Amino acid sequence: MQALTNRVKVVERKPMSFLERMYLPAIFKGMMITFSHIFKKKPTINYPEIQRPFSPVFRGLQVLNRDEEGRENCTACGLCAVACPAEAITMEAAERQPGEEHLYREEKYAAKYEINMLRCIFCGLCEEACPKDAIYLSETFTPADYQRKQFIYAKNDLLIPHPVNEPEAYKKALGNKSTKEKVN
Ligand code: SF4
Ligand code: SF4
Repeated sequence: MQALTNRVKVVERKPMSFLERMYLPAIFKGMMITFSHIFKKKPTINYPEIQRPFSPVFRGLQVLNRDEEGRENCTACGLCAVACPAEAITMEAAERQPGEEHLYREEKYAAKYEINMLRCIFCGLCEEACPKDAIYLSETFTPADYQRKQFIYAKNDLLIPHPVNEPEAYKKALGNKSTKEKVN
């Protein structure tokens, strides 16, 4: 058959030697590689029973913050949504009514606040843009799910537990954030 290019290579099929036909050297070589791994340190861990400590700069699931009295910090200014390169944040603002001072710290608050976790790239720009210390990226993963709609996190999914009513859960959610300097 005529070759179309000069790159054609004829592959030489050498007949197998007696040892090669027994396959023993190849099996022995493979077993040596397997056994050598038995004594090496395992790179895997038994998650979730064992969990690796997060890096101090780890950025996980967003949390909407409250102040010490449990009032929501967010004033629905929209700066986080503008800063978000993935356009993952949407919100609707509402005015605080008389008698709601114990719920919302500012005169305006987010009646609706959503983050699309399928868009989020966990860059942390929303946290940096926020002038009210109202959002931060925690040390928690976004849980896996089978349905796309489950990855739209609403305000109730993102709000930190109440510091007065649920102090333990609040402290846990705060994580290493409690050791950082707070900007209010
Ligand atoms: S972490 Fe980045 S991508 Fe995710 S919501 Fe915040 S600004 Fe957007
Ligand atoms: S989280 Fe911060 S930046 Fe985003 S709307 Fe609320 S106050 Fe503004």
